[in-house]
Amino acid sequence: MPALDDIVRQKTAILEHRGQKRSLVPSERGVGVRVERGGKALISFSCNDYLGLSHHPEVIKAASAALAQYGAGAGASRLVTGNCPLYDELENLLAEQKGTEAACVFGSGYLANIGTIPALVGAGDLILADKYIHACMIDAARLSGATLMRFAHNNLDHCKMLLEANRHEHQNCLILTETVFSMDGDRAPVRALKALANASGSWLMTDDAHGLATESLAEVQMGTLSKAAGSYGGYVCGSKALIDYLKTAARSLVYSTALPPATLAASIAALRIMKAQPELVQQPLQHAKHFTSLLGLPVAQSAIVPVILKENDKALAASKYLEERGFLVSAIRPPTVPENTARLRFTFSALHETKDIEAVAAIIKERGWLAQ
Ligand SMILES: *Cc1c(COP(=O)(O)O)cnc(C)c1O
Repeated sequence: MPALDDIVRQKTAILEHRGQKRSLVPSERGVGVRVERGGKALISFSCNDYLGLSHHPEVIKAASAALAQYGAGAGASRLVTGNCPLYDELENLLAEQKGTEAACVFGSGYLANIGTIPALVGAGDLILADKYIHACMIDAARLSGATLMRFAHNNLDHCKMLLEANRHEHQNCLILTETVFSMDGDRAPVRALKALANASGSWLMTDDAHGLATESLAEVQMGTLSKAAGSYGGYVCGSKALIDYLKTAARSLVYSTALPPATLAASIAALRIMKAQPELVQQPLQHAKHFTSLLGLPVAQSAIVPVILKENDKALAASKYLEERGFLVSAIRPPTVPENTARLRFTFSALHETKDIEAVAAIIKERGWLAQ
């Protein structure tokens, strides 16, 4: 039998050869958009803490108080003794934010998808997923045992064609999309997808991980507390019947320990701030629009803007160059994005300063990266 270490070294070498080897770099996040790497202070355009809420004094205060009151860990799954009273408060706030009857909080966004999708569909059912859907929805779809088909990104005609050809051979059908696509920053035509779902007797599930509290028309509205809310956890919002069912049937909820109470308290404080300060919630998109207008790119649809450099090496070199100039912008490569679409991915925070956005746009122009 070959030694495990030999096999994994071979597998790693293959990834390295393809330019797909990843590495973890210690990065100390400070207040706002500051990050320290290798002793160097950088302005980050690579963080999903869109509103800076992870460091908001009220969030920290609420989390500290919960830590002192309830301790560091939840002690058990939510169905055993881990259902801290803070869950009700958080779920009520989420349902209110999304305009649904109820909500269910999971350990993370990944766990929300992994638990929800296989609870809703299985063998004999159909899943139609946008080509650019996040890896965790794909993992969940595979785990479910349903037939998985992908429609071309945001392509309603293709989705309709697949429905017409395949829907009748399956019992239930779930259509999966993201409200805001994580690597491209564009938005799904949610209303039109819902109409297709309705017309074909299918359900729509949206992943709003990168949305800033966006309501969708889907009957299953998934999202995360780990990005704009600056905390940690995932959720599904929907009807009371759906949520009741998930609390029994979603295995990632039933068989995993509840979130630490301090994390729930942080999320509650963050959602309250988002509710009270709609202008703060708007700010990342305003910054992204300023950036796209400086560069003559199509108007930003969200806080995420990709600058596509195609080749992996180019994206890596560009990211390294920006780092030398004091900016942290990650290079995103396949398999996270399609082959030959390696890119710099900019995410804008409410806390970016206009001068930083202008400086980084000036570097892109100076280097001629848009002409790639
Ligand atoms: C980040 C992300 C998730 C996972 O959420 P976590 O809370 O980080 O586990 C799910 N879907 C999309 C589209 C994401 O970007």
